Amino acid sequence: MSNVFKPLEWALGRFSVDMGIDLGTANTLVSVRGRGIILNEPSVVAVRKDTGEVLLDGMAVGNAAKAMLGKTPGNIEAIRPLRNGVIADFDVTEKMLRYFITKVHEGRNWVKPQVVIAVPVGITAVERRAVIHSAERAGARRVYLIDEPMAAGIGLDLPVTEPRGSLVVDIGGGTTEIAVLALAGMVCSTSLRIAGDEFDEAIVNHMRRHHNLLIGEQSAEKIKLTIGSAWPMQQELSMPIKGRDSITGLPRKIDTTSIEIREALSHPVRLICESVRAILEEAPPEISADLCDAGAVVCGGGALLYGIGEAISDHLGIPVRIADEPLTAVARGTGVFLDKLDVFSRVLSADEED
Ligand code: ADP
Ligand code: MG
Repeated sequence: MSNVFKPLEWALGRFSVDMGIDLGTANTLVSVRGRGIILNEPSVVAVRKDTGEVLLDGMAVGNAAKAMLGKTPGNIEAIRPLRNGVIADFDVTEKMLRYFITKVHEGRNWVKPQVVIAVPVGITAVERRAVIHSAERAGARRVYLIDEPMAAGIGLDLPVTEPRGSLVVDIGGGTTEIAVLALAGMVCSTSLRIAGDEFDEAIVNHMRRHHNLLIGEQSAEKIKLTIGSAWPMQQELSMPIKGRDSITGLPRKIDTTSIEIREALSHPVRLICESVRAILEEAPPEISADLCDAGAVVCGGGALLYGIGEAISDHLGIPVRIADEPLTAVARGTGVFLDKLDVFSRVLSADEED
């Protein structure tokens, strides 16, 4: 990109609300140039089952839709369209993007924005195109896609454009994205469908198997957030859990401890560690040498699980750092990307240029 002054570009840039979107499997964050992160809502859409229509005139997205999750009457369905890191439903994804773009762009829709969207590593070329077209139909003038680990690396200020390796482990809701970054590219990467949701499910299964207690996913998440861990705690914790007895069918309350929950989480945690190891084994030796000292950086909501850094470090024998504000790393990265489009346009993969 040249430095020639382009009046039209300048005017569009001044008056449009260019935005970066972290299209996460659990949460979508939007950052706007000069204003930082201005929107952070669950990636959930509530639709009518029969017509596929989004409720509340297209506004039942995000917080409004999450409130309906698990409590939806017969013909209403709350959908997480990216739950598995692949777009299960193009149509719903498009509606969700439209909601976020129009919400941010409200009242200023006379100049179309440029939009940078961070997408999971696992999505296919067809899905990438669908995201681009959805954003265009939602009013974007120009759409750039960036891989989530790259956006995270930029947001965390790692030396992603330098000839040194950086290892990012982003443990989200539906997927864990693992990538080695160097020279503004992904040297190797993988997307694993084991992340926060799987932690919740492991807790649900553990309670059913060991205590004949049925609990919902939301309760399991609450237990995870309150006493979950991946490494022994200095002071182990306990909490009561309420659910339904699977034998009597009646409500029941038991007490559980962080030790028990850690055991329930140990399997998914180990699978994540093993995937990080596999990526390290794939990296060229020079890059491995860099990572001996630089280690890995963990971000995404899963980075907040107590002791996850220790667990990964113990498994791999390299230093592991937990990112500051891990939930916003990707969104911050899309913001930096917007500010420095000329520097970072090299980061884009080939199919995003049109
Ligand atoms: P995504 O990028 O896939 O949308 P996020 O990075 O927003 O996902 O992370 C969401 C996940 O992080 C959820 O599974 C949530 O339960 C989990 N999470 C959030 N806070 C914590 C915490 N303190 N401890 C453990 N897990 C957490
Ligand atoms: Mg994410």
